[in-house]
Amino acid sequence: MSGLPTRQIPGVYHRRFGEFLVTGISDGYVEMGYNIFREFEPQDVDLMMARDHRVSPPRISVNCFLVRGPAGTVLIDCGSADKFGPTAGKLFENLEAAGVDPSEVDHVLLTHCHPDHSSGLADPKNGRRLFPNATVIANRKEIEHWFSDEEMASVDERKRLRYFGWTREQVEPYREKHLRLADDGEEVLPGIRLVECAGHTPGHSTWLIRSQGQQMIVWGDLAHVPEIQVARPEVSMSFDHDPDLAAKNRTALLARIFEEDMLVAGMHIHFPGFGWLVRESSGYRVATEQWNFEI
Ligand SMILES: [Zn+2]
Repeated sequence: MSGLPTRQIPGVYHRRFGEFLVTGISDGYVEMGYNIFREFEPQDVDLMMARDHRVSPPRISVNCFLVRGPAGTVLIDCGSADKFGPTAGKLFENLEAAGVDPSEVDHVLLTHCHPDHSSGLADPKNGRRLFPNATVIANRKEIEHWFSDEEMASVDERKRLRYFGWTREQVEPYREKHLRLADDGEEVLPGIRLVECAGHTPGHSTWLIRSQGQQMIVWGDLAHVPEIQVARPEVSMSFDHDPDLAAKNRTALLARIFEEDMLVAGMHIHFPGFGWLVRESSGYRVATEQWNFEI
């Protein structure tokens, strides 16, 4: 039979949050290998993924979040562009499907500089800013680290290209006039605050949105594989900058999110990426939000 669909319609999901409209926008997904985990055996990965009927080794969803309201038009993270093959790099087509032109974005907030989060800023061929009217806001520590020549000289070739090289390629076009550095705890825009959760990268950050007495946390890479790391926060990734610090800060922040009953928006929670933490024997689980027709 011809004419049947061979792919999904675009990945866009709107949600009201107090005075804001928050839109989960899919950048696609990436198939990973067992080697993404640090000191965690493939058979344990298989077991935990099977429990949630997930493929193993895991497929990692990549989401960005558009936040519109009192802070203007804000995009949190900007996906992987062409850095992760054909299943990722869908941000721009999905933004278009959502009826948003990149020129309308006032601010791009970064959770951190890794190629699945910060590759949509600029065209690598000519340095053109893909969000021509936006100011990028990022944790000062994150930018200082990736722009440090000394740090860059201390790592292997692969990291030098993928982390330092690609960050510079993407951020440099904004650096002089369109980049704002922020610190832990700072309210960078009305209702949006930087909450640092370092370890995965030196300045890995989450963005806490407050409106009308509610809290939402856009948690970046607090968990790459929620089925595993939310249940077992001590499990770190092989590409964590400081895996022990990442685990320690993840454990503490998960507890705070649970205690304060925050809505979670996760870059690597399966699309559309919203949910709440519920307690499980050893840790937590993400109870993903039901689909709502009315926004
Ligand atoms: Zn990531």
